[in-house]
Amino acid sequence: MLYKKIFSDNYLSKKQIISTGFVIGLVAAILFGSIFSFIQYKKRDASYTDISQDMGSYLTTLFSQLQATAKDMQPLLAANCTSSSRELTSRAAFNLNVRTFVLVRDGIAFCSSATGEMSMPLKEIAPSLDAHKNVDLEITSSTPRIQNHPMIAAWFRSPGTMDNGIFAAISINLKPYLLFSAQQRNITSIALVVGDNALTSNNEQVVGTDKLSTNPTRITQIQGYPIKLYLFGSPWRAEDIQLSVLSSLIFGLLVGSLGAYILTVHRRPEHEVLTGIKLDQFFLAYQPVMAIPGLEVRGVEILMRWRHPSAGLIPPDIFINVAETQHIIIPLTQHLFKLVAQDAVLLQKVLPAGSKLAFNLSPSHLYSPAFKNDIQALVAALPQDHFHVVFEITERGMLKEAEATEIFAWLHDQGFDIAVDDFGTGNSALIYLERFNLDFLKIDKGFINSIGVNTTTTPVLDTILALARRLNLETVAEGVETPEQANWLINHGVNYLQGYYFAPPLPSEAFVEWYLSPRNYDEIIHPS
Ligand code: C2E
Ligand code: CA
Ligand code: CA
Repeated sequence: MLYKKIFSDNYLSKKQIISTGFVIGLVAAILFGSIFSFIQYKKRDASYTDISQDMGSYLTTLFSQLQATAKDMQPLLAANCTSSSRELTSRAAFNLNVRTFVLVRDGIAFCSSATGEMSMPLKEIAPSLDAHKNVDLEITSSTPRIQNHPMIAAWFRSPGTMDNGIFAAISINLKPYLLFSAQQRNITSIALVVGDNALTSNNEQVVGTDKLSTNPTRITQIQGYPIKLYLFGSPWRAEDIQLSVLSSLIFGLLVGSLGAYILTVHRRPEHEVLTGIKLDQFFLAYQPVMAIPGLEVRGVEILMRWRHPSAGLIPPDIFINVAETQHIIIPLTQHLFKLVAQDAVLLQKVLPAGSKLAFNLSPSHLYSPAFKNDIQALVAALPQDHFHVVFEITERGMLKEAEATEIFAWLHDQGFDIAVDDFGTGNSALIYLERFNLDFLKIDKGFINSIGVNTTTTPVLDTILALARRLNLETVAEGVETPEQANWLINHGVNYLQGYYFAPPLPSEAFVEWYLSPRNYDEIIHPS
């Protein structure tokens, strides 16, 4: 039965909890890892865009400033080198990226900021530059004068001429760019590309674009100039992957342990009981107690019922035991008191004033500091002066003698009755009967069961009844199932009968229905 499972320690075994925790942790780790990596990836992607935009606009500024300088230098093209060379030299000196400015007339370089007067066709200095273009760029590793020194050659044509203009040799050191982007450690290199040639940050020489390693992560065209910026970077860095794996593992471990912990706590039977209270899964059943000789209903015993959503109806023996051992019997009984107060409105309509309401009390509740308050709250919630409250206490509840004496006296002071429940099943029952001031003795159904079957118990039953009479206790026989048992008990002087023969414990509405329907006990001999 499912409820047995719920209330055994193995409802979810340790192994199951661990494996469930593991699965939860694994899923959490994978989820976390994916999200974490995705965020990392997005961040990196955004940083590539930022860097290439920053560097792109820097280069645009650099070239447009250079072009503006070249424009300012136009008048020098009309003069001879001797008069121009001073200004040419100072222009080159003040322009940080320019190594040399060269004046070109009719395709012939005639004046250099570095070497003064000269005469050399532009084609020889920079063979790929197209002098017919307004602006042209070339990446070259050497000029006729300077060997093995990579540079960018720039050409700015004089407006309205065929091949007059200014040539500039620009040294661009890419290292600082790389340093600048070093905060973004995922960038491995950058390159400036003109045509098929490239200047890269990790090579001193000009390299062909076909020699560039992998595909660049970003290619940025510099606005207005035939030059491109390539950015190389790995989308995944080893450190990122390590960080991602490590944090996923930690996260997975935390979530997995939390999951396992929650499962452990939630699957504990006491948690199920408390949840049952919260979700209003408990209800009460009322079993009539019949008075002899008239066999009229003298009162009811209140018995708790639990309708569990998945396990169905769970018998009280099971959950009362759990509640007692797990120390939640007090909230459970407090809940029962509330439920009784609700049902009492209906019960009051059929049960006459003075009818008994019998409650089962657990010893741990009896001796708790909350007990007296709880009882007063119960009485305050019940219809005034209608029911006569009886508390059923098992012999177990009488073990703490001093406290029991005090509590029993208090209960009597308040006008309640005390019944010894399940009498005959404990060990030291007889001693208690003498010591405590009690009102009723409920004879356990085990004795009633054996009436007419087992002849050895009847003398014991006789003795109990005789003893009860001598101690001035009224007797209630529990578990009466047949008219024969009822007859026997009546003949032996029992005061009250309770059992399936009359009615099983019934929910309040069903009880009222039973109460109002005609009853026939002709099989029982009514003693006069
Ligand atoms: P109990 O106090 O001895 O209650 C009588 C039990 O006998 C009830 O079982 C009742 O349904 C059953 N019974 C009544 N007539 C007959 C019959 O003719 N034949 C048979 N075979 N059984 C009969 P139930 O309701 O299953 O309760 C079992 C036990 O759980 C109770 O025994 C009581 O010890 C405990 N319990 C039930 N409700 C509460 C409660 O609200 N508080 C506490 N502390 N214990 C409770
Ligand atoms: Ca009882
Ligand atoms: Ca009983």
